[in-house]
Amino acid sequence: MAMVGRRAEPGGAAVRLQCLRCGGAEPLAPGASCCPTCGPSHDPGILDVVYDYDSVKEGLGGRPEFPPGPDIFRFRPLLPVAPPPAGAILAAGGTPLVPAPRLARRLGLDKLYLKDETRNPTRCLKDRATAVGVALALRSGSRDLYCASAGNAAISLAGFCAHAGLACHVFVPAEASAERLAWLRGFGAEVRVSAGGYDDAFAEAEAAARDTGWFSRQCAFNPYLVEGKKTVALEIGEQLGGRAPDIVSAPVGDGCTLGAIGKGFRELRTLGLLDRTPRLLGVQAEAMRPLVRRFRGEPEVEEPGGSAALSIAVRRPRNARRLLAELVASGGEMVAVPDEAIAAAQRALALEAGIVAELTSAAALAGLEALGEERLAGRTAVIVVTGGRAG
Ligand SMILES: *Cc1c(COP(=O)(O)O)cnc(C)c1O
Ligand SMILES: [Zn+2]
Repeated sequence: MAMVGRRAEPGGAAVRLQCLRCGGAEPLAPGASCCPTCGPSHDPGILDVVYDYDSVKEGLGGRPEFPPGPDIFRFRPLLPVAPPPAGAILAAGGTPLVPAPRLARRLGLDKLYLKDETRNPTRCLKDRATAVGVALALRSGSRDLYCASAGNAAISLAGFCAHAGLACHVFVPAEASAERLAWLRGFGAEVRVSAGGYDDAFAEAEAAARDTGWFSRQCAFNPYLVEGKKTVALEIGEQLGGRAPDIVSAPVGDGCTLGAIGKGFRELRTLGLLDRTPRLLGVQAEAMRPLVRRFRGEPEVEEPGGSAALSIAVRRPRNARRLLAELVASGGEMVAVPDEAIAAAQRALALEAGIVAELTSAAALAGLEALGEERLAGRTAVIVVTGGRAG
């Protein structure tokens, strides 16, 4: 295999970027965005970080596990950036995998675990991607960062920037709640509220950032950020002692999160640290389910919208190719659930497992329930509780 480019940084094993659409290779440039050939079109050319897994094994020094550490940077050989100096950024990751025996019993599962991402610094899985973004920004000397977000990614970026003393510019949809705006302003972010939804805020962010040189925390377009998100899968594999669950369920918006999770499990398998890869279950709200349609080969339609699960209310998913490839590789699938089922799952997570999840996160449980008792009987499942903010 020809190697293009070079290793990103000492201790790393990343060798190049590769377009998920045209297959073209690109060097590991710090400010990389979409593939220059395919561009950020309707079907964007998302670049994927390619690693040399022999170097990753070397990085592990023959140990059958990653070394301990305070945050996601203990997975250094599988990340595209070196750890920032100790204490320079907030510590993302290292969240607990919580057994939920009562819920498991009711669903007919053998075992159910909740990967509790609400324990991250800003209460959301997004912090894993932000940590990689801020580490890269610090290394490249950027002092201004930006993103578009329904709320969680923006709050995550704002929190990390406040801690590190960086400027933060965020673009949020009109529906962003007063509570989310208050979090953002509390962290000192510059907030621009779009007149439209998330897809409009995304376009406005890209337009505003074009001439400013701001560092991008746009998870699909900045190819390095999903590498942070995949660490949630690396932790789940470890926490289950290298034995994969049957199913891993997560809510899906742009597709970055679950696509990254699929990549993380495949990498553990490649490194011999996981016995097999789990089936991925991606969950969307019925009112906004473009990826359910694409997975099933149905024609694109104008999504009706109106779901209260705002963190996955994405009309034009930007990381669809990554997600769909991971679903196929894992033998997984997409399901859509009505808002009432998501709300019921949110109540059940509190009542039967003691976890306060945000509405969007509860879609992961609703999706699992939608598979039906027969498909869950005797299985082990993991729900990624992606976030825990109210409102
Ligand atoms: C962002 C987010 C998701 C979906 O992630 P994508 O990468 O957009 O698919 C799911 N749940 C919560 C709580 C989120 O904030
Ligand atoms: Zn391309």
